[in-house]
Amino acid sequence: MNALFGPVNSRRLGRSLGIDLFTSKICNLNCVYCEVGPTITPVCRRGTYSPLRALLEEIDRFCADTARLASIDVLTVTAQGEPTLHSGLGTILAHLRAKADKPVAVLTNGTTLMDEGVRSDLMVADIVIPSLDAARTESFRRVDRPTAELDLDAVIEGLTIFSHAFKGTLWLEILLVQGMNDTSEDIDALIGVLGRMRLDRIQLNTVVRPPVEQDARPVSNERLTAIAQRLRQALSRPVDLPFATLSGEGGIRPGVSAGPEAAAIIEQIRDMVWRRPCTAADMARTFHLEGPEQIEQLLAPLVRAGELRLLEHGGHRFYQRGP
Ligand code: SF4
Repeated sequence: MNALFGPVNSRRLGRSLGIDLFTSKICNLNCVYCEVGPTITPVCRRGTYSPLRALLEEIDRFCADTARLASIDVLTVTAQGEPTLHSGLGTILAHLRAKADKPVAVLTNGTTLMDEGVRSDLMVADIVIPSLDAARTESFRRVDRPTAELDLDAVIEGLTIFSHAFKGTLWLEILLVQGMNDTSEDIDALIGVLGRMRLDRIQLNTVVRPPVEQDARPVSNERLTAIAQRLRQALSRPVDLPFATLSGEGGIRPGVSAGPEAAAIIEQIRDMVWRRPCTAADMARTFHLEGPEQIEQLLAPLVRAGELRLLEHGGHRFYQRGP
């Protein structure tokens, strides 16, 4: 499995090349909405959980291909788990900055920023997108299911310190789960702590992809819209909703059904679906194909072989890696 995947069309970032720091899940949380799968053994200490040299060499190979590099908008460091748990994060970010003249983004669950070393590593990034799903301990524990020693007040303190020290772009994501962290009390508590942070945007999200726990349900569009309005009024910050759809930028490729091009697309889809469930429409946009039917046709043999499986969620059919 390659560490680099995509580029994928990200609603938030444009055409984004993903850099996945782990080959299996390494996380300190076990969120009910996780798309990666359950956290079997929570990990709280930073470490070299995947070989640093191999990661840097893969980055070098990608950056040497100037045409591919030119086709992306942003390099996004992420993980099957929490990327700041990789102790080589600072080296990886500095390497990306040195090798590619592209913005570097980091997605993080935001729970390690009380560690000065993590904050210092992240200073090199252009965009950091941490999460904070709740400001009330009971809601935080219900949704994110942290290890017993992870203290929400310390998480909020770390995020607040980082928000004022970081000079780049900071977008905070809040993922709301129906009946778990979406009450008026929850939103008021979030407003209380977010008001102390320097944030460029707030991104509201809900359970839009198949979650690890089947009872993790999405918040309705109406409720999300009302919460966004409340956040905007209270915090005077832009608040994004998860409904915006991607435009089909980059033109449409006519029918790709066989040959080396189809094989290359299937290989990249394997990488995408390995990390998170995707719909055929997601993939058609990413690869500039005419529509989901082409993807369904390309993936039918993988579904028949059991390598991928189809799953219904929220009225959409997602491709997920097989058992
Ligand atoms: S959603 Fe992210 S932070 Fe939560 S368990 Fe999954 S990988 Fe970890």
